[in-house]
Amino acid sequence: MLRRAGPSLRHFLLERNSSAGHSSCSREAKMSRPVQARRLEGIDKNIWVEFVKLAATYSKVNLGQGFPDFPAPDFLREALMRALSGGNHMLHQYTRAFGHPPLVKVLAQFFEKLLGRDLDPMTNVMVTVGAYQALFCCFQALVDEGDEVIIIEPFFDCYEPMVKMAGGTPVFVPLRPNPPKDGKLMSSADWQLDPAELASKFSERTKAIVLNSPNNPLGKVFSRGELGLIAELCVKHDVLCISDEVYEWLVYDGKQHIRIASLQGMWERTVIIGSAGKTFSATGWKVGWVVGPDRLLQHLRTVHQNSVYHCATIAQEAVAQGFQRELMLYGKPESYFVQLPKELQQKRDWLVQSLDGVGMKPIIPEGTYFLVADISPFKSDVPDDPNSDEPYDSRFAKWMVKNKEEATLKSASDILQKWKQEKTSS
Ligand code: PMP
Repeated sequence: MLRRAGPSLRHFLLERNSSAGHSSCSREAKMSRPVQARRLEGIDKNIWVEFVKLAATYSKVNLGQGFPDFPAPDFLREALMRALSGGNHMLHQYTRAFGHPPLVKVLAQFFEKLLGRDLDPMTNVMVTVGAYQALFCCFQALVDEGDEVIIIEPFFDCYEPMVKMAGGTPVFVPLRPNPPKDGKLMSSADWQLDPAELASKFSERTKAIVLNSPNNPLGKVFSRGELGLIAELCVKHDVLCISDEVYEWLVYDGKQHIRIASLQGMWERTVIIGSAGKTFSATGWKVGWVVGPDRLLQHLRTVHQNSVYHCATIAQEAVAQGFQRELMLYGKPESYFVQLPKELQQKRDWLVQSLDGVGMKPIIPEGTYFLVADISPFKSDVPDDPNSDEPYDSRFAKWMVKNKEEATLKSASDILQKWKQEKTSS
């Protein structure tokens, strides 16, 4: 039947195309109307896309992107295997859009402990595709055209384009360095907000402030006093707080991570963002979450259901089991949340020493797995280029990737040891 209809159908289609003025040639004709939505203007560049490519070309090590070079803990990997090959075949299917029930339940239990308040797993918690999507949901759901959003510098790069994509205007306020007088290395705690400068950024147009403590990239862990100042301004100006706390368990030297949502007047205006990637050293799983009042989360759910709708069930199941373990071991020495920062603190100390050894001036991070270093002693290796509008640190990082991170070196320690040897022999 179809075979018989074939020639006449082809004939009909050819006729229709030619009568509509289409030929195979004109089908390839370029469109003349602009195709890019205006909201994408100026935000098409992404530093990670560029540097991941560079690192992959010259090196086996990617020092920039912020992921562990050690395996995720056994208990988490085993939970994933059980989820994958166990009897519950439904774990291969869709689950609840706003979070797999076992995960939102255990997150609610965990955060009840941390925040000292009752939480409803179905309305106060939502699971996202990593913290990245949690941030995207916040900006899309809460920021309107013309709204201002305060961002504390230095900051995780995606905040700015995400605010712009939502139609908002980023307003920056810097952490300012206050170097110790005794010639000691600087700590991230020496970078502070100027209270008057911060207050001057709040206006009736301010919709939200983005807080990232522990901070990427400085590693700063905001003190209770600093958080109190931010909270006071949020309450005074009726401003929301988007609190990116993905490094909440990576805090060193016995410092404590304080959740701004636990301060007076802040719960109802704060969205807490977390990441299983950072919490359990499994960044590729892309499981994140938001915790906050239903009044705010209901709007995030609208963005979520109209964008990704759903996150991988099996990864959510394994993360839920990871949290169940941590809930049982909470505060005990066997807890991963106790062990991981201890392990990373040693690595941080080693990295600080090594960077100092090659002539940089590292700023000792109080948390996270980032470290910022002063590279001004390298001006003779990488001189200023008056003809380039590329920032000096970007040019330096490229020089370092190309000259120091050879493809044969497999770890940061290899790189720094070799560099130190070169330095001592020259
Ligand atoms: N927030 C900060 C401060 C981050 O550093 C990152 C990842 N580098 C994210 C959010 C995104 O986390 P995820 O991988 O869970 O999407």
